[in-house]
Amino acid sequence: MPLVPLRVVLDHAAEHNYGVAAFNVNNMEQIQAIMEAAKETDSPVIVQASRGARSYSQDNYLRHLMLAAAELYPEIPVVMHQDHGNSPATCYSAIKYGFTSVMMDGSLLEDAKTAAPFDYNVKVTADVVKVAHSMGVSVEGEIGCLGSIEHKAPAKDTGPVDPQLMGEPGERHGHDADLEQEPEPEGAMSHLTDPNEAEDFVAATGVDALAVAIGTSHGAYKFKTKPTGEVLKMSLIEEIHRRLPNTHLVMHGSSSVPEDLQEIIRKYGGKMGETYGVPVEEIQRGIKHGVRKINVDTDCRMAMTGAIRKVFAETPDKFDPREYLKPAREAMKKICLARMIAFGQAGNASKLMATGRLK
Ligand SMILES: [Zn+2]
Repeated sequence: MPLVPLRVVLDHAAEHNYGVAAFNVNNMEQIQAIMEAAKETDSPVIVQASRGARSYSQDNYLRHLMLAAAELYPEIPVVMHQDHGNSPATCYSAIKYGFTSVMMDGSLLEDAKTAAPFDYNVKVTADVVKVAHSMGVSVEGEIGCLGSIEHKAPAKDTGPVDPQLMGEPGERHGHDADLEQEPEPEGAMSHLTDPNEAEDFVAATGVDALAVAIGTSHGAYKFKTKPTGEVLKMSLIEEIHRRLPNTHLVMHGSSSVPEDLQEIIRKYGGKMGETYGVPVEEIQRGIKHGVRKINVDTDCRMAMTGAIRKVFAETPDKFDPREYLKPAREAMKKICLARMIAFGQAGNASKLMATGRLK
């Protein structure tokens, strides 16, 4: 089975009320972890690469690894998705390298950190939709800017923002709006998706999927305590879905940052501050209201890192990369399995294949 467009998978997910995890990859072991979990659970999968991942692994390596996955698992529909394309050029180069789906993130300017005007977002996204659709490639757009509500509260209320809380200091797979910009006039919520704008945006661009900003952020440091409806606006998803019942919604920054993985990392010498992610049950609530694609990266990173740290700590004499990459791959596979079951995509690869929509 060749790689398949996002649209076909999400249409099936909508018809059968399930969500599909989109896992980020940079290397072979991560792709293997996802594919093994998909085979074991009979799940269609979305494998995504950020700009950072593409430059880390190089497009040619990535493309051939993905083709290998499709060849080795002909029974699994696999989408290869560009995560957070910052410009039409990035999306077009992804299409050239065989991606079957692209995200044009025009919610930010090309620098990937400055919030963009609505008209700019519509223009670049509509341009990409036109080209991508002519080639059978799907498009995800974004309206509103990813980022936490807690950390965006006016400075006088919260004091200086701890840079660590703004996400990972190094390369991030996605982008949150620059929190150091001028204070937002309406306070901490003005970066969230406006349902009116979402309606206009979908009508003007024809995107296949829409990423919405509801208070999630990228990286491990999403919430200071278990999130409530005040900082994780699931109600906003429900409102947007009411207005756009036929649009597939996407939740970014939706790792759950499990406590047990935090503990493994700490136990074996890693440093992680106390933090909370997006609870799986909140994602399940979203899936009942139109969420079809759920981006998960941090949980996979944490699983691999914890496993590698454990090997290093317990058996410092080992130096064959396979001795720590195998447990790392196994740990990521466990996370993928759990999410595939929780989101409901498990059991749907064969059903999707049986529809005959994929050739
Ligand atoms: Zn993202």
